[in-house]
Amino acid sequence: MRAREDDVRTSHTCRVATLTALGIILAVGTTSQAQKETGPKVEKTYGEGLPRDSAKLTFGDDQYPTWPLTPAQKEYATIDGARMKRHVVNLAQIALKYRDEGHKWWGRFPGTTADREGMAYMTREFESLGLKVEHFPYTLPQDWRPTDFSAGYQTANGSVVDLKTVFPVSGTKATPAQGITAEAVWVGIGAGADFLGRDVKGKAVIIYSTFVPGGRSHSASDRAGLFNSNARAVKAGAAVVVNVMAVPGNGQFQPEGGLREVPQFTLSQDEGFALRDHLDNGEKVTMTFKLDVPPLLNSPTEYTIATLPGASDEQIVVMTHTDGYFQAAMDNAAGMASALELARFFAQKPPAQRRRTLKFIQFSDHHHGEVARGEHIDKTYPWNTVAVKLTMEHPSQTLLYMYNEDLTPTNAIGAFRWNALGSAEFEKMIFETLREFGVSVYASEDGPKNGNYAPSFHIIDHIIYHTSLDVPELVPASGLERSTRAFAAALDRANKMTMAELRGPNFPPRSGQGTLTGTGKPNNEPPSPRTRGAQ
Ligand SMILES: [Zn+2]
Repeated sequence: MRAREDDVRTSHTCRVATLTALGIILAVGTTSQAQKETGPKVEKTYGEGLPRDSAKLTFGDDQYPTWPLTPAQKEYATIDGARMKRHVVNLAQIALKYRDEGHKWWGRFPGTTADREGMAYMTREFESLGLKVEHFPYTLPQDWRPTDFSAGYQTANGSVVDLKTVFPVSGTKATPAQGITAEAVWVGIGAGADFLGRDVKGKAVIIYSTFVPGGRSHSASDRAGLFNSNARAVKAGAAVVVNVMAVPGNGQFQPEGGLREVPQFTLSQDEGFALRDHLDNGEKVTMTFKLDVPPLLNSPTEYTIATLPGASDEQIVVMTHTDGYFQAAMDNAAGMASALELARFFAQKPPAQRRRTLKFIQFSDHHHGEVARGEHIDKTYPWNTVAVKLTMEHPSQTLLYMYNEDLTPTNAIGAFRWNALGSAEFEKMIFETLREFGVSVYASEDGPKNGNYAPSFHIIDHIIYHTSLDVPELVPASGLERSTRAFAAALDRANKMTMAELRGPNFPPRSGQGTLTGTGKPNNEPPSPRTRGAQ
């Protein structure tokens, strides 16, 4: 035990030293690349995976295809992917610093130093572009933030394995102070048939869970609607549920919506397979778990509004959440960077050429109950003056594939979930503008995000988020560039439309679903259960 603590302290010191050196480099602005994080060292590896093989597997920004601009699109050439990428790296560093201060549950969370540093970063950048930033402090009544957790197991021959990649799922039940000890039982994907004849009562139920397709939606969860394996395990009397995430490598995963009845953890495929190997041999494996989640009440945080005045009081609103898990590079440093680049682009235009006032709203509690939006912004905002609302989330991600036992990133940009809510002309304009700038979308359309108070649009990638794979290397500069150019062009085009033209005859459309692609669900039907509750 003593030896292990010493190890941790040594590696912590190394990391701090490296970060300090990196801080100096960033300060003189000579790099847009952070050091590559390789994740915890695990006892056994399977195939090529992330983050451990990041140095070998990820492409550099200059290795992605470029999307050439047509002569008509040249006015958007100043929107610069490399500049946005530097913001992504800098914001990820804030989260890494918070981790290296000793927080096992890490990222940029409301009420933490990382929250304040992220918000301060945005304020500084907006102000440097000449925008006025207003601050709206408020208190987040409650939050869920573990202070410590661990898990391990003892094999038949008595050797003890400390699980380095185990991670609790947000909102789940804490263990008693003395922890939980339970025998491990492997139930595959956790379908009904997998449980037949298995006694899981009082045991640690291990379920293999695939991404469908990302950090939040995974096959064992109720959200996926595939197997409901986690709920089945609870019903059958599990003492603990462990989801081995089917992502090659040593990643850590926080899919949210943790089980309330028993503690729920995720585990990397590397460590999950090593555990499986013991169970494959018919060994009896005894596991131990600890999870401390003291009550956390009244966290002070703020939301901010940056204003770029236009020629009228009509508004374009850009809403960006600033919180995120792990490095939170895609979710949502990418969105924060894109918002700053939009501000820069429009700030360079003469005010007379900005038909509408631009408002950038930043809020810190998207993954923590959205009190800023629900209790403050939604209720008080002058929505009748808002021509268009852009929800700024996750606008660039590397396309990844599973390839047999390996995980391989590509040098392509992934397609996005999306929605445009407004008149048919508005929806068509958004789709066409995204297409013209090389932004690909899903065939099925989301509902709107952040409410239906005004015509709105968004794109959102959702594969690596809420995982330790959410790193700057998988947020390509070229993707940031394409998306942000498309956003700017879409806002310019929207500014050529009147409020009535943007809204159409029946705003808001009842279903919120789009009509252009996929199922082509008419806009007067209730929301599809497939996209309801998606984030
Ligand atoms: Zn997000």
